[in-house]
Order: sequence, then structure tokens, then C-alpha cells
Amino acid sequence: MPSVALVVPTPLSVCVERQEGRPANRRVPEQVVRAQHAAMVDAFPGLPAEGFDHVVVADNIYRLQALLQPLSDARRADLGWDDGEGLGDLLLVRRTFGSEILPMWRWRDGSQLAGGDRVAEIGLGADRIVLAQRNDIDGEGDIGFEILVGCAADAECEGKAWAPAYNVTDLLRALTGELMTDPDVRCTIHGGPNDLDQEAADHDLQDDDPEGRADLEAQALEAISG
Ligand SMILES: [Zn+2]
Repeated sequence: MPSVALVVPTPLSVCVERQEGRPANRRVPEQVVRAQHAAMVDAFPGLPAEGFDHVVVADNIYRLQALLQPLSDARRADLGWDDGEGLGDLLLVRRTFGSEILPMWRWRDGSQLAGGDRVAEIGLGADRIVLAQRNDIDGEGDIGFEILVGCAADAECEGKAWAPAYNVTDLLRALTGELMTDPDVRCTIHGGPNDLDQEAADHDLQDDDPEGRADLEAQALEAISG
């Protein structure tokens, strides 16, 4: 009688995850699951030599749903669609800065530091980063974060300088002081570093533009009538 080895190549993460759904007395410790999985992977090339006539890898077993189900469950739990609380306000924090930041994140409700916008703090050891959640960062209603940095225009400045924060790199740049000189920093007293240049540019534009437009209009007219 021929012997057949059926290999079910379940990913390690799925093997580990499945233990969570089992009753406590049926649960296998994660390190044992890991060791068994590693042993299976190691044994695979040697199966024919162990006397099996056929080695069949079960790639015709439906596996995608088993992979997607826990991911979908986790997402629904995050959104609070499983009748739990979900992540709520922290969803945006996680999407912006990553899940590793969440345990260090504290809302500072009641703080007036950001002109009434919601304030939060990321703290670990002696390090602190203060952030504001802005509800209209681009004039189009997009929600995002800004970090409180030192004013680059004046070390004694009593205003609040805020730099946009889009990701975890910006958090690091805030800590190292690099973010302070970002061109998008806005101080409540000094404005942004380019404000003076911008004013001059606007002024030039106002002076030059009417001539430019008039010239274009004349050319257009010429083209139509000519
Ligand atoms: Zn300032």
C-alpha cells in the first residue's frame, strides 16, 4: 500500500493565533507551536527519504479566508464594530504614527495650549512631545497633528511655534530639534520663516500681474481679430 504525506503549510502566525481560540486546557504554549512548526519546515525536504511514496502539499485547501478573518476581526474591533469601545480617537493617532506610539499617548483635555484644539502628549522617561490635533490642517477639513517646537525666530519668544507632524519621523525630528527649522513651522507671534519673503513675493506679483494679464489679453485679442 502506498503511503502519502500530506503537508498543510499553515503559516506560523496562523498556528499561533489559533491557540488563542482554544480552551485553556487544550492550548499549546507558543514556544511549542513555534518549535513544531520549525520541525515541520525542517522535515519537509527529507519526507521522501523517510519512506513516503508521495508528498502532497495541500495548496488546494482554502487558506485565504483563514488569513483574512482574523485581520478583519481585528479591524472591526479597532473600529468598535464588535460592540466594544474600539480605538476611537486613537485610530488617527495609530494611522499617523503607528501602533507602537499608542501606549505612550495621553490626551491633555482641557489644555488651552493649542488655542482650544485638542492637546496630547507622548511621553517616555524624561522625553516629552506635545501635540495638537488640528481639525482643518489644509483648509479642506482634513484632520492632522502639529507638534509644539521651540520658536526659531527668537529663543525668548512667548508665542507657540507649531510644526506639522505627518509621521513618526517627524516625532524624532521634534526630539532632535530638527523640526524647529522646518519651513512649515508657524509661530503664533512670528508666523512662519518665509512670511517676510512671501509678503514681498505677493507684493511683486500684485505689481507685475496686471501688466502680464493685459499683455496676454492683447495677444488673445490679436489672435482672434488677426
Ligand atoms: Zn515666535
